[in-house]
Formats: sequence, structure tokens, C-alpha cells
Amino acid sequence: MHEDLIPIRQAVLARNPGEAEFHQAVDEVFESLGPVVARHPGILESAVLERICEPERQIIFRVPWTDDQGRVHINRGFRVEFNSALGPYKGGLRFHPSVYLGIVKFLGFEQIFKNALTGMPIGGGKGGSDFDPSGRSDAEVMRFCQSFMTELYRHIGEYTDVPAGDIGVGGREIGYLFGQYKRITNRYESGVLTGKGLSWGGSLVRPEATGFGTVMFAQEMLRTRGQSFDGQTVLVSGSGNVAIHAIGRAQKLGATVVTASDSSGYVVDPDGIELDLLREVKEVERGRISEYAERRGGRARFIAKGSVWEVPGTVALPCATQNELDGSHAKKLLDHGVIAVAEGANMPTTAEATRLFQDAGVLFGPGKAANAGGVATSALEMQQNASRDSWTFEYTEERLARIMTSIHDDCAATAEEYGMPGNYVAGANITGLMKVAEAMMAQGLI
Ligand code: NDP
Repeated sequence: MHEDLIPIRQAVLARNPGEAEFHQAVDEVFESLGPVVARHPGILESAVLERICEPERQIIFRVPWTDDQGRVHINRGFRVEFNSALGPYKGGLRFHPSVYLGIVKFLGFEQIFKNALTGMPIGGGKGGSDFDPSGRSDAEVMRFCQSFMTELYRHIGEYTDVPAGDIGVGGREIGYLFGQYKRITNRYESGVLTGKGLSWGGSLVRPEATGFGTVMFAQEMLRTRGQSFDGQTVLVSGSGNVAIHAIGRAQKLGATVVTASDSSGYVVDPDGIELDLLREVKEVERGRISEYAERRGGRARFIAKGSVWEVPGTVALPCATQNELDGSHAKKLLDHGVIAVAEGANMPTTAEATRLFQDAGVLFGPGKAANAGGVATSALEMQQNASRDSWTFEYTEERLARIMTSIHDDCAATAEEYGMPGNYVAGANITGLMKVAEAMMAQGLI
């Protein structure tokens, strides 16, 4: 790390104790910034980095709700409004028992740079709760969402802060949240949330956008080496929104996707994952991944322990959660001849694993670039809401494809410009930072 950045990093660590994931996300950005501070001394003089690491606003609140037996539960709600230099705060809500302030801050920090990379007018934010939706009835999830929004509504708005989904928050939860926002405010403010249903302000392609975008980004990386998805053996982790649509897109491009997983284990299906069955088990029935193997007539295996990264494959798409691919997994993947890794999830690859891939010359697409298609299409949903319009699937998909190609090209060009050709991590961090820093410096001491 550049010596001028070390004291800034130390101050961030001291000010945010015990927030390991946030520290990791800050380190990952700072590691890329040596050439930037050397070339642009104004970045240090204006204390832009110190300011970027401190959220503009952090909201923590109590969420009381009752289960179907009438028992009272208390969860904690979060919204971190990190940076509004480029537009209203924008970023998803995560409902998972592991959520605490450090997770929300890591995700919000990443979101600042990701949103800048899309070229859309959106700032960075993130939120969520330690509520665990698994095993809860629809009525319980609805009561939780209504209670969550009863506090959150006063902090958000189409020009202020626009939440969306993330782990544990999909179309069902966005529906309950939107309904409660509308009741409290007496406004049909479509642009206050994204990921809405099609009949009430949602956008075509939004459900598919993160997974599709990840594969589009990986395809662009492969293209630089004269390769493509056609004929590749692809490993995907997760079986949620991002994983399912990454699998579908990779298959459409001629790849064989042989794995999927959830928090209970993973499945290997050498003939290729049967997507309709996976969606039936995970999306419709909200079941466990083992049921996929049970219903696949002996063609797929379920492994309760271990990870998909132990399976041989040439392209890896981590689409589950942070730090799911570590150094030992990276070594296994390299032994098996992996040529490209693109992060559908946020920060799924540890710093050690990222370094191993980069040292070995593997194409590596960091999440803030590779999975930016989701938030970019959320911004397209906001555009449609603002103009009271709805676009066709083909048009929206074409816009997404153009955005992903342009993110890829910007990252590649910046990496080249700063003397690190092929380093998409540095390219993404520097491109995102420069856009946000320029806006912050122009807007006075904010
Ligand atoms: P979902 O809730 O739809 O799916 C998450 C998947 O990951 C599930 O299969 C879940 O398994 C699995 N998972 C979660 N935690 C763990 C864990 N600790 N160990 C193993 N598996 C786990 O979430 P999304 O698909 O929306 O999100 C996946 C990732 O993509 C996250 O990192 C998210 O931040 C990122 N992302 C999502 C975007 C979006 O548009 N949705 C946009 C950009 C990034 P189980 O079913 O057992 O819980």
C-alpha cells in the first residue's frame, strides 16, 4: 500500500473497530490507489479518501414483530447512506442473521464505486437486518417488512435514498415494503424502491440483470483473449437470484454449468444444471439444494460439506456471499486449469485468493464491476418510473449489455493507463474513485 495511504487506513480501522468486512473492503480499494495519489495530489490534499470512508449518515433501529404464534421478536434494522455525490443513495437491503453494521458498511462502501462505474446518476448506500427469513411464513415476513418500513420510510425517497433487494430480499419482500411505504406516505412513489413487480412499476430484465451482467462481463474478459463461454465448464456457487440467472446466461452461451449451492451444501451435475428444476426447488418451493439432487434421477450428487471450488472447471462465478472463495480454493481452481473468475456476489473472493488468481494470469472480474448490472438495471427501472413508461425486454437487455461492455472497457482502459494492464481490480477501483472524487471536490467540503 502507498505510504501516504497507511495513516488514512489506520484511522479508518481505529474509528470502526470490529468491522472486519468493512476493513477488508477499504483495504482492497486502497491497495489499488498508489498510482492515483502519486498522479493526483489533490486527492490527498482535499481529504477525499477520509471523507469517502466515513458514511454521510448511519441509521440503526429496532424492528419489533410478532410470529404466527403471537410471540414477539426484536431485530435490528440498518441503513447506511454512504455517499450522495453522484445521486440519491442507492443499494439493496439484506435480510440474513449475519448482518451487522460492518457488513452493511462493507456493502455500502463497495456500492459507491460500483454505482459510479455504471455511469448512472446514483450514489452509494446499503441496508438490511439480522432477521432470518428462512422457514418463516409469508405472513411473518410481511409483518417484519411492515415493521421495518415503519421506521425506514422517513429516511428514503426517490430523490433521497432508493433501496432494492439483496440476500434474503426478493420480489416478495420488496412488495411488502413498497405497500407499507405507500400506506404511510399516501404517495404512489414508484421510484422509492427498485426490484418491484412488473404490474406495479418494475422493470423487465431487473430480476435477471445481476446474473446476466456477470456473465456479460466475463464474456468481455474472455474476448480479450480470443475465448468465449462456448464449451467452458462453469462452476457457480449459490442458487439465489444472482446464481440462477448467471447459470441461465452461461448455458445460453454454450457453457456447461456443473454446480450450484446453498448454505447447506452443493450439487454437482456433470450433464449441466437443469435450470427449471433448480428454480422449482429454490425459487418456488424455497427448499434445500439437496432436493435438486434427489429429483434429478441419479444424475446429480449432493455434497453436504466442502465447496463448489473443489470441482474441476474452467470458469468460476461465485454468486453466494462474501469470502466464500479463499486461498485454498483458489489453489484448487488453478490446479484444475481455471481461466476466468467473475464475482457475481459482493467480495466473495478473499484478498489472498484474488492475489493468487492475478499472479497466475487468470482473468479476474471484481464484483463492483462484474455484478454492477443489477444496480444499473435498477437505475433503468428508476428512469422508467420517472417517465411513467415501461420498456421491452429486448430494449432493456440491450441497454444492460451496453452498460456492461462499457464498464469492462473503462476498467481495462484505466488499468492500462495506470500501468497495470489486465488488472480489473485496480481498473474498477480507480475508475470509480475518480468519478466520485471529482464530484465531491466540485461540491465543496461535503
Ligand atoms: P439470494 O438470497 O437470492 O441468494 C443467496 C444465495 O447464496 C442462496 O443460495 C444462499 O443459500 C446462498 N448463501 C447465502 N449465504 C450463504 C453462506 N453463508 N454460505 C453459503 N451459501 C450462502 O441473494 P442474491 O442472489 O440476491 O445475492 C447473492 C450475492 O450477490 C450477494 O453477495 C449479494 O450482495 C450479491 N449481489 C446481489 C445483487 C442482486 O441484484 N440481487 C446485486 C449485486 C450483488 P440459502 O438458500 O441456504 O440461504
